[in-house]
Amino acid sequence: MEKKFDTIIIGSGPAGLAAAIYAERAKLECLIIEKNYVSGGQVINTYEVDNYPGLPGINGFDMATKFREHADALGAEFVTAEVSDIIIEETDRKVVTDQGEFIGKTVILAAGARHRKLGVPGEEELAGMGVSYCATCDGAFFKNKTVAVVGGGDVAVEDAIFLARVCEKVFLIHRRDELRAAKILQEKLFACGNVEVIWDSVVNSINGEENVESVTVTNIKNEKEEKVAVDGVFIAVGILPNSEVFQNIVETDEHGYIVANEDCVTNKKGIFAAGDIRTKMLRQIITAAADGANAVTSVQNYLIYA
Ligand SMILES: Cc1cc2nc3c(=O)[nH]c(=O)nc-3n(C[C@H](O)[C@H](O)[C@H](O)COP(=O)(O)OP(=O)(O)OC[C@H]3O[C@@H](n4cnc5c(N)ncnc54)[C@H](O)[C@@H]3O)c2cc1C
Repeated sequence: MEKKFDTIIIGSGPAGLAAAIYAERAKLECLIIEKNYVSGGQVINTYEVDNYPGLPGINGFDMATKFREHADALGAEFVTAEVSDIIIEETDRKVVTDQGEFIGKTVILAAGARHRKLGVPGEEELAGMGVSYCATCDGAFFKNKTVAVVGGGDVAVEDAIFLARVCEKVFLIHRRDELRAAKILQEKLFACGNVEVIWDSVVNSINGEENVESVTVTNIKNEKEEKVAVDGVFIAVGILPNSEVFQNIVETDEHGYIVANEDCVTNKKGIFAAGDIRTKMLRQIITAAADGANAVTSVQNYLIYA
């Protein structure tokens, strides 16, 4: 007979791994399905995490490894597969993947989020040839070179600060005349001697034959266009939820986030949403991990009372 899990967790970022830890400690039969060969989600692409209590300045990859090792030590079962659908049957939820189907009494959607693209000419063609979405992953390739970072939030400013340590010159291209990033980050940014902010400007195209050679930028106030010579472009203009697969299964908001409160309960019985994928105020490691714990508590309540 096919094994039926108490809960199937989709995604092994901080939300999924925290859920796995709580599920194992609650003695639930649980399976974690992760499409990547490495657990950790967005955290593995983070050079330094400096806001998680007790682990100041930890490297993202090390943190993700610790989270995964904790789940492994408790006996969590993982499978590498990409989820493409969930079929809801009376008491079962059938999770469809490229490696077969898995049956759970409940499912926790912890598939997180991904980088938003600029959608300009050259972005796709030069991806991996100077266009990057992860300064911490690719910054070292641009040692002593000139790069541009696009965006004005925390991630863009963090990226610019990080790259300023490695690169000769960093342009920060932002569409407004002030940054959205936290003030402490802005102070650090403006203290960097080799960062120049190009205000009120948008990128029209990323140019180059085989590698990035320049970006064409328009100032939206005076409509002046200029070509800025750069060796790389780091795009940090926000994230999108990985909820496409689940949009016909659970309710999502206008941005695609799965509608769920702190209890992680969705509008579909037995389906829960945790971490960056759900509607929430703050998308961070600590809130994702908290969601994992809350989702398992809701799963337990569901299994008792359903
Ligand atoms: C560059 C960067 C820097 C950051 N810095 C910080 C920081 O300093 N401090 C902080 O607190 N937060 C930081 N964050 C935010 C933090 O990483 C996220 O809030 C957190 O990782 C969200 O966790 P999650 O588990 O919800 O989702 P994710 O981390 O996105 O993990 C989701 C997982 O689900 C998997 N998945 C997706 N779809 C499927 C599918 N169909 N089938 C199977 N698996 C699937 C993905 O492969 C991924 O492993 C940063 C984010 C980025 C991008």
